[in-house]
Amino acid sequence: MPIRLLSSEVSSQIAAGEVVERPASVVKELTENSLDAGAKNVSISVADAGRTLIEVADDGHGIPAGELELAAARHATSKLIQSDDLFHIQTLGFRGEALASIGSVSQMSITSRVESANEGARLKVDGGIASKVEKVGAPIGTVVRVENLFYNVPARLKFLKTDTTERRAIDSLVTRYALAYPNVRFKVTDGKQVTLQTAGDGDRRAILAALYGVDVAKQMLEVMATEENMTITGFISPVSLTRSNRRELTFFINGRWVQEISLNSALLQAYHTLLMVGRYPLTALFLDMAPEDVDVNVHPTKAEVRFRAQDKIFSFVQRSVRKALLAYTPVPSVSPQLWGSRSTPSEPRTVGIDWSIGHDSQLTVEGGQLTVGGDDEFGETSYQSPVNSEQSSAVNGQSSFAGVPLLRLIGQIGSTYIVAEGPDGLYLIDQHAAHERVLFEKLMAQHDNKSIPSQSLLAPEIVTLPPQSSKILLEQLPFLNKFGFEVEEFGTNTFQVRSMPMLFAGGSPAMALKALVEDFEEDESPLQAEVEARLAARVCKRLAVKGGQALTSEEQKSLLNDLENCQSPRTCPHGRPTMIHLTVDTLERQFGRKGAR
Ligand code: ADP
Ligand code: MG
Repeated sequence: MPIRLLSSEVSSQIAAGEVVERPASVVKELTENSLDAGAKNVSISVADAGRTLIEVADDGHGIPAGELELAAARHATSKLIQSDDLFHIQTLGFRGEALASIGSVSQMSITSRVESANEGARLKVDGGIASKVEKVGAPIGTVVRVENLFYNVPARLKFLKTDTTERRAIDSLVTRYALAYPNVRFKVTDGKQVTLQTAGDGDRRAILAALYGVDVAKQMLEVMATEENMTITGFISPVSLTRSNRRELTFFINGRWVQEISLNSALLQAYHTLLMVGRYPLTALFLDMAPEDVDVNVHPTKAEVRFRAQDKIFSFVQRSVRKALLAYTPVPSVSPQLWGSRSTPSEPRTVGIDWSIGHDSQLTVEGGQLTVGGDDEFGETSYQSPVNSEQSSAVNGQSSFAGVPLLRLIGQIGSTYIVAEGPDGLYLIDQHAAHERVLFEKLMAQHDNKSIPSQSLLAPEIVTLPPQSSKILLEQLPFLNKFGFEVEEFGTNTFQVRSMPMLFAGGSPAMALKALVEDFEEDESPLQAEVEARLAARVCKRLAVKGGQALTSEEQKSLLNDLENCQSPRTCPHGRPTMIHLTVDTLERQFGRKGAR
């Protein structure tokens, strides 16, 4: 084929693809335009997760009627004049691409009025073709209405995820902007329902509450530091509050949401050794610096940036976060070092103990890799032990291997561990992990038999969740009902729990619901059974007895008994060990009765 210039239609669709990937990208560009226009109120409406409608209305300075056509043209911007300006950009936009891009892949209308005009004007753009500007009555400000996104690019439509996922992307975007601009009032409406509303009174913690719920918002620690010409403000979660993914690490630089790997790693270094493997904090941090110290013109969506002094910023973030963290984090009274060091396997062993997990004395945990402590509050973690009882039993092909012998209760220590004697030595059992395992196996067994006995609550409990969480919970209602909960929607973001599975009698219904929605992975796995087991494990974790809870000796005995009857008593449903076994042999070596190695 000969070389030809692309038609303007094709080239603008190609360019649009860089900026407009999904409904949330439209919301982002329009919201940023509103903020650039100095809006104090930004009102966003969507329908069908933004597929059929996205409308962003603001009370900013507006666009003069004579400039409307230009506003929708490619590379037309009021925010930049010469190339030099690129190096000290103060606005969120500057590429002059968004409106043109959106207009080329949707049916868009821009209605706007500036203060000096006594009426407004409207421009319609359909698939990149603009019609004449018409006069209309309008308040001061701008309304951009985007209908039928990608109607003329069906290939793009196919890449959109489920409505839930697209909705979530929009919500998470707007809530982040709301956090970054606490003095602007944001409102999101979905159909007729208002799903997010902020006061615009500068109170960031209130917005955190709308985002994560009051409990979480209360716990978040404040960061505030200034150094040379950099400032960092915002919130980080204490080490007891974590997620299993990095999605809640939010950084804004000069009012712009960025996804910067280097900032994430600075942050995680600040938490170093304080979090368990695979756990991540929640953060919303806002960095401000001179515009010339950061190059935002690296990426079409401006999600990546380059810093002039990357190392300086990195260490500033790390130090500020660490400081905030240590100021609030009590030193744990029982150090994990108590049981063997956390040292790397290559280092010489400090304690000559074989921490046998299995019955088989060959299966030992190398060089202190096994760490005790790590309280349940750290949440679910895949425990990375070189020896995994389930794995080993598969290797040995003996199911009995993973079991435990009959145990004789000795007592409880630290209100957290149960000490027991077996025919082959001493067992230390983590009561929380053990109870989690017991609940989980009982629940799954009842579920397999399709008979989960449930018990009505004396008084139904009302649980209110943050909007995002309640949306997730609504999707999980069938799961809950299947597992012996009776939960129904009771109002906006509010649920009524009428009964709970008998197994959890006495447990907190609110805890159970929260367990289901926090940490929710965007999981589109078709393996329903797997998802159910995971959710069940999560509920069991929340309702299991905690470390630090004194148990009567009856309770200790029955826990041991239940554990003996489990199929995989040696790990909790999340893979952490429930017990440590000290063999008689090990004890004898330790006491010098047998030749030490
Ligand atoms: P950019 O934001 O990069 O300048 P856009 O295509 O997003 O490019 O917008 C083009 C121009 O239209 C902007 O420079 C601005 O002058 C004007 N504009 C867009 N949205 C608004 C708005 N909500 N209020 C006022 N002016 C706007
Ligand atoms: Mg813009």
